[in-house]
Amino acid sequence: MESSFLRWLEETTPTSPAVALGIGDDGAILRGGPEDWVVAADMLLDGVHFDLQECGGRAAGRKALAVNLSDLAAMCATPTAALVTVALPPNAAQLAREIHGGIVDLAAEFELAICGGDTNCWAQSLAISVTAIGKVTAGRAWKRSGGQPGDVLLATGSFGGSLSGKHLTFTPRVREALVIGGAIEVHAAIDVSDGVAIDCSRLAAASECGVALRLDRIPVSAAALELSPSAAGGEEQSARSALDRALSDGEDFELVIAVAPSELERLPDSDEFPSLTQIGVCIDRPGLWSQTAADEELRPLTAAGFLHGESR
Ligand SMILES: [Mg+2]
Repeated sequence: MESSFLRWLEETTPTSPAVALGIGDDGAILRGGPEDWVVAADMLLDGVHFDLQECGGRAAGRKALAVNLSDLAAMCATPTAALVTVALPPNAAQLAREIHGGIVDLAAEFELAICGGDTNCWAQSLAISVTAIGKVTAGRAWKRSGGQPGDVLLATGSFGGSLSGKHLTFTPRVREALVIGGAIEVHAAIDVSDGVAIDCSRLAAASECGVALRLDRIPVSAAALELSPSAAGGEEQSARSALDRALSDGEDFELVIAVAPSELERLPDSDEFPSLTQIGVCIDRPGLWSQTAADEELRPLTAAGFLHGESR
């Protein structure tokens, strides 16, 4: 890349005390400590994860960092730094600055440094890969494994219809994770990128147990309700369709955590504590199952989810 762009990057890129050496050398140096480091990487592609024509560079850059922060949140890690690697389409100097703007604004919100990366041009469409690094007290990171039969599944926020806008504008649940992690014991956790059904089945598989989702308790987003077909089959069908969206649209970037039922009594009743919805339980029987209020019987639930690359 042109050196003026690199200089501009150096001048406008946030840093932090954890970064002993940032942009400008062959690699960054992060200062260690008694914590564990959590490292997550996600690559976003124009036409798959965002539509650049529609959303612009700022939103694309912001989303590239936000999805990685969501992964750090799912492991209860405090974001420390990120590396940003961008493959730009031809003649995209202005686009590069817009992407950077979206990234540094979100980085400032969560006080993390951008400590390096790479920028290249090619004749294809935009790709942005972010590697995010966070820290957590040694041995205290949440994992997908660790859920136990009897655990209650709690979710932040609501689900479905994210493509109406939330997939670009969501705030990663970093603060919520840190507050929850400081207050209660979490056995297992995951962030919902592909759909609450499929991601809960991933938590179940990693935890070597099953999951029963209470379909009457899944928080359905206003966007999912708006997108679901109305009236034609009566209200019941409309509601079911919105529920399907909630279960499988994906890109919600909410958290699902598994906790022992005794932790429910310890949930702090304060405005600062995130509101959580009890969406299901971990059970002995492997697989993904559904239950309703009226029907306690377990029924197999198909773990359909948003398969990145197949839509949009
Ligand atoms: Mg994830």
